[in-house]
Amino acid sequence: MQRAQHRQPGQTEDAGRMGRTGRRAVRDVRAVGIRMRTAGAAVLAAALVLSSALPALAAPPGPASVSRRVCIDAGHGGTDPGAINGTLREKDLTLDIANRLSALLLNTGLGFSVVMMRTGDVTLGNTERATICNDGRADTVLSIHLNASSDPGVDYFRAFYGKKAKDAAFTQTVSDAYALTKPNSTEPLPKLAPTNFASGLLLKTDAPACLAETVFLTNLGEAAALGDGTGTRQQQIAQQLFSGLRAWYRV
Ligand SMILES: [Zn+2]
Repeated sequence: MQRAQHRQPGQTEDAGRMGRTGRRAVRDVRAVGIRMRTAGAAVLAAALVLSSALPALAAPPGPASVSRRVCIDAGHGGTDPGAINGTLREKDLTLDIANRLSALLLNTGLGFSVVMMRTGDVTLGNTERATICNDGRADTVLSIHLNASSDPGVDYFRAFYGKKAKDAAFTQTVSDAYALTKPNSTEPLPKLAPTNFASGLLLKTDAPACLAETVFLTNLGEAAALGDGTGTRQQQIAQQLFSGLRAWYRV
């Protein structure tokens, strides 16, 4: 939950047509081409599109820097609990997910290092948070949140960028890779297209930054899963964010 993002009961997945960058469109063209070749139809037309699209595919989605140093921001903390649903507090869940993501990054031998924004229940402002990432020389910043709505049926993922030039490509990559299913279901969790949010953290960090509203804490199914004591849902969320970072760094 963010201050400008609280309570969006009227917003549904219908509002979330996935924004398409040129790169995304190119990927789609490639997928269509493969399907068309498989079908044995219109092969030549597809091949012509592919040949013009291929140079763009060579452009890496990731940063020029490959230090793989991720600043993981557990949203809220201390006097700021974030969203609350019964005994569940956003600030505790973001820290849990942040710790799980850190473990995934550090324990898989992919060369990641991590700057943890906080490891306990402390109060931090956005300027302090940005300074921690910048002083830690992070080359990406991922801020973890859980969203809130007055409608207990609402549940979706949405990622936010601050400065378009700095953050949008990273944010799109995180969003594209996020393939969470609904709690105890095989149905995909809806995703809304990434959009701009003038967060002090996103704006003041030097590195590409993304704020991820991972799920809705106020959703009935999410609250049950997040509060079942197993940590399974938290691990699933961390795993999806990990996938996004792997996609960005191409590892
Ligand atoms: Zn939040």
